[in-house]
Amino acid sequence: EALTVATAAAVIVSVLLSLYISRRVVAPIQDMMRASLRIAAGRYDERVGLADDGFEDMDELGRLALSFDQMAATLERTETKRMELIGNVAHELRTPLASIKGYMEGLIDEVLPADLVTFQQVYREADRLQRLVYDLQELSRVEAGAFELDVQPLSVRSVVAATVARLHPQFEEKKVSLEIELPEGLPLVRVDEDRIDQVLLNLVGNALQYTPAGGVVRVQAHHEGRSVRLIVIDTGIGIAPEHLLHVFERFYRVDDSRSRVGGGSGIGLTIAKHLVEAHGGEISVASNGPGKGSEFSFTVPTA
Ligand code: ADP
Repeated sequence: EALTVATAAAVIVSVLLSLYISRRVVAPIQDMMRASLRIAAGRYDERVGLADDGFEDMDELGRLALSFDQMAATLERTETKRMELIGNVAHELRTPLASIKGYMEGLIDEVLPADLVTFQQVYREADRLQRLVYDLQELSRVEAGAFELDVQPLSVRSVVAATVARLHPQFEEKKVSLEIELPEGLPLVRVDEDRIDQVLLNLVGNALQYTPAGGVVRVQAHHEGRSVRLIVIDTGIGIAPEHLLHVFERFYRVDDSRSRVGGGSGIGLTIAKHLVEAHGGEISVASNGPGKGSEFSFTVPTA
């Protein structure tokens, strides 16, 4: 009799135990399997959601579910960014292409004269496309971190002088004055000359582009602890506070119609930010609002 009772008890315990194991272990694993299959099929919004408790009292399965959901969230973000990027690129390419096609149609139908003015307009659009493609290539390189810095100790004065010299003719043409105000005794900086030249060229070029004739662009530098801050100040059109946070985002333009005239694609500052950060520095912007000028600055490490 005792044996029968013991056997019955053992059977009941093992049934309960297997039910418990299946509820605690097998069911969540099956959930994760189903979720991973759905993610594999492209449903990136899928989550397991088993891990609601605090991390400490979670068992291994709970933690696995948590990392699974984190992985799914990262995949979803990457996918959203990828789709956004494709949309942006298509949008950017559409305008110059449509206008080249328009000119060509005008020429074929003999509505437009086959003269220098028309050809110059087509050339300008093709040039814009070329710059856009170059910027996109550069953007993908810096975003992927697929570039190497060739850093060496350099004087801020020589870097600024070399960059600014190239922009002089454009400043003269637009009647905007350019003032370089560098203090004596700045330490050497450890930078990749070409990359920092690229950043400065972008900031000073933007300052020129967004400052009307009669305005001033100033390039300054300060020594701040273990870095040097380079500052580009202009007396131009300024930036409203709600746009300030976004100007470093790719394809962001404060005013679409306005910067399109200058051919800007809203990529320059994104590239500049990546290049500055690759040097271990940071880039920032300030403006007192529309019509009140802008100030862009970035830091680079001292040598
Ligand atoms: P873009 O090629 O359009 O100039 P950027 O990434 O260099 O692209 O700049 C992003 C946007 O930030 C510009 O479209 C412009 O609206 C704004 N911006 C940049 N620099 C200035 C400036 N110095 N003054 C006013 N607005 C600026």
